[in-house]
Amino acid sequence: MTKLYLAIPCYNEEDVLWDSAEKLLNKYYDLMTENKISPDSKIVFIDDGSKDNTWAIIEDLHGQNPVFEGIKLSRNRGHQNALLAGLMTLKDKADAVISIDADLQDDINVFDEMVKKYEQGCDVVYGVRSKRQTDTFFKRFTAEAFYKILNRMGAKVIFNHADFRLMSRRALEAFSLYHETNIFLRGMVPMIGFKTAIVKYERAERLAGESKYPLKKMLALAWEGVTSLSIKPIRMITWLGLFIFIISLAMIIYSLISFFVGAAVSGWASTLCSIWALGGLQLLAIGIIGEYIGKIYMETKRRPRFIVEEYLGDDGSY
Ligand code: UDP
Ligand code: MG
Repeated sequence: MTKLYLAIPCYNEEDVLWDSAEKLLNKYYDLMTENKISPDSKIVFIDDGSKDNTWAIIEDLHGQNPVFEGIKLSRNRGHQNALLAGLMTLKDKADAVISIDADLQDDINVFDEMVKKYEQGCDVVYGVRSKRQTDTFFKRFTAEAFYKILNRMGAKVIFNHADFRLMSRRALEAFSLYHETNIFLRGMVPMIGFKTAIVKYERAERLAGESKYPLKKMLALAWEGVTSLSIKPIRMITWLGLFIFIISLAMIIYSLISFFVGAAVSGWASTLCSIWALGGLQLLAIGIIGEYIGKIYMETKRRPRFIVEEYLGDDGSY
């Protein structure tokens, strides 16, 4: 029987946590009585440096029922790092770990199917959203554009899959070999390979509280996705540079001919235009190259990607 752990990042989730915990507990009891998961499976909340009562609630839950465990990060590091902290802390304890958001927008009833796929030999099972009816038009449009642009840019992501997925111990072990600091999990997991599967589900609305992913964070995530997985933007600049160089050759020939036939005019407009255009392009190029140098800089520091402050488990570790 599969020893299944859940990794649930939580940032200021006091409004939904009790509710989510109860729903998850019921689901776990069902799975256990149907002998689909082993009785020592756990539900683990990762507190990503919340400023509200989230950690107190997690402690309460753990006190009430040891099926609940908690990992407290030393400060807010963002969803991706919190999730990574959970996965890396749990990888030696579980047979498989499912990651899911605290607001349970992802359907907990597909756990059964995920575990089944795992037992059939899949190391990664991706949860994929079948429809986006509950999203606003804007969210749906931006999210779908996001996946398409990422794929164009060479980052292979699973369409409409966020971070709801099951990973086996073996997959987590392999994943732990990726030491980079700039992490974009849904782009990195497909890199590890192994046998994978997809399960479809419909995403619901948030239970309570508000989204911790405003547009600004979404854009930051998209940008992280592109620049941490792909060097296409640099290549695009190279092509652009080549294109402009070819045009400038033609312009030189044109101006030389004009000069010799005596048709050259003062040229004020063209000079001004080219100064602006070239200045702009150069700045853009330097900016994008700088983005990568910044990443190299961060990687060379090899800072810890997370620090676990406390682990609430029953084997006394940490
Ligand atoms: N989250 C986190 N750290 C952060 C922001 C968010 O751990 O800095 C968690 C949050 O508690 C939730 C998950 O990431 O469990 C996804 O956030 P949310 O549901 O607000 O995003 P949305 O579904 O609106 O994209
Ligand atoms: Mg959500």
